[in-house]
Amino acid sequence: MSFLSDAYQDIRDGVRALCAQFPAEYHRKVDAEKAYPEAFVDALTREGWMSALIPEEYGGSGLGLAEASVIMEEINRAGGNSGACHGQMYNLTTLVRHGSDAQRQRILPKLASGALRLQSMGVTEPTTGTDTTQLKTTAVKRGDRYVVNGQKVWISRVQHSDLMILLARTTPLSEVQKKSDGMSIFLVDIKEAMQTGMEVKPIANMVNHETNELFFDNLEIPEENLIGEEGRGFKYILTGLNAERTLIAAECIGDGYWFTDKAAAYAGERRVFGRPIGQNQGVQFPIAEAFIEVEAANLMRWKACALYDAGQPCGAEANMAKYLAAKASWEAANACIQTHGGFGFANEYDVERKFRETRLYQVAPISTNLILSYVAEHVLGLPRSF
Ligand SMILES: Cc1cc2nc3c(=O)[nH]c(=O)nc-3n(C[C@H](O)[C@H](O)[C@H](O)COP(=O)(O)OP(=O)(O)OC[C@H]3O[C@@H](n4cnc5c(N)ncnc54)[C@H](O)[C@@H]3O)c2cc1C
Repeated sequence: MSFLSDAYQDIRDGVRALCAQFPAEYHRKVDAEKAYPEAFVDALTREGWMSALIPEEYGGSGLGLAEASVIMEEINRAGGNSGACHGQMYNLTTLVRHGSDAQRQRILPKLASGALRLQSMGVTEPTTGTDTTQLKTTAVKRGDRYVVNGQKVWISRVQHSDLMILLARTTPLSEVQKKSDGMSIFLVDIKEAMQTGMEVKPIANMVNHETNELFFDNLEIPEENLIGEEGRGFKYILTGLNAERTLIAAECIGDGYWFTDKAAAYAGERRVFGRPIGQNQGVQFPIAEAFIEVEAANLMRWKACALYDAGQPCGAEANMAKYLAAKASWEAANACIQTHGGFGFANEYDVERKFRETRLYQVAPISTNLILSYVAEHVLGLPRSF
């Protein structure tokens, strides 16, 4: 149920039809086995949904962020988790916007056909966390190669991807004017890197999210794998992050509708004290409130999509959409589990799984506090707090 659900109905119908082949039992089994939804991601790729943002000249569908966001929303709304595959959507925007012609020709058609996956992006580090400009991983130019040393943490989908975009410092912090200068991004061939200086250690975690610690010991990356100009990587990453935030907002909106639909259906059928529990305002109101908040977040999501697709600055809107949607989906998750009483905790209802999955988005890929400080500083003009 949504007032805005008729937007992009053809895409919604197509993704729903595919998702119907992967019902709740499939996602429950993948979660229980801590597996990767290979068959689901393969089907999405085969049907062309994963190449929505690849320009047509490289074999993709050349669609905008709005359409891509509908794909992600529908996966979550159908009970799945786009977290398994959303990386490629936003990572490839970095390559499309900042990669060389040669890189685009080499990689994009293979992403479109499914011959390669670009699901991974390595930014976060254990000792510096959100304070990205302080990151310690270095890439030092030696001849026609960069030599990488350092460590990353929480790097997702590495074991189910062929390529990763890696952010590393190429000029020491002490030698740059602005701390966001002097970092660069590289394409890393994951399988090759795992033989030549990159160690991958999986992190067991609360959601079924394939995420890892990475250790770099003199990993050599050919110079042709530098994306864009050396030293400008942080700026390039930020353009991808606006796409990432907007897509994740759409996923949270999909979750929000899944939770409110599920809660309303259960509240209508579960009878206690001789009447449906949904007849009690104490049960109705949290579901109604969550639905209102999901609808409101959705408006900001469309605004962020429209600005991004028009090539306009959209940092504030992308961040605000992600903030509102993550909060709304979490409230919806709470209302849904509460409505289900004890049954909300039983795996077979899927509520506890989706509850765990949607909780992530108030922390990653950017925490709510950091969005608040972005808005305080960049929109309201308040002094920088860190
Ligand atoms: C499942 C999962 C998958 C992930 N996947 C990836 C990935 O693929 N690639 C990648 O690069 N990263 C990934 N991350 C990392 C994620 O982006 C970070 O966890 C997140 O940005 C927060 O960084 P941190 O964990 O180091 O927290 P910290 O920076 O240590 O912050 C901890 C808490 O303190 C708050 N805080 C810190 N500084 C301030 C401040 N100045 N003002 C107010 N509050 C503050 C934060 O908001 C946060 O709540 C993933 C994380 C998880 C959990």
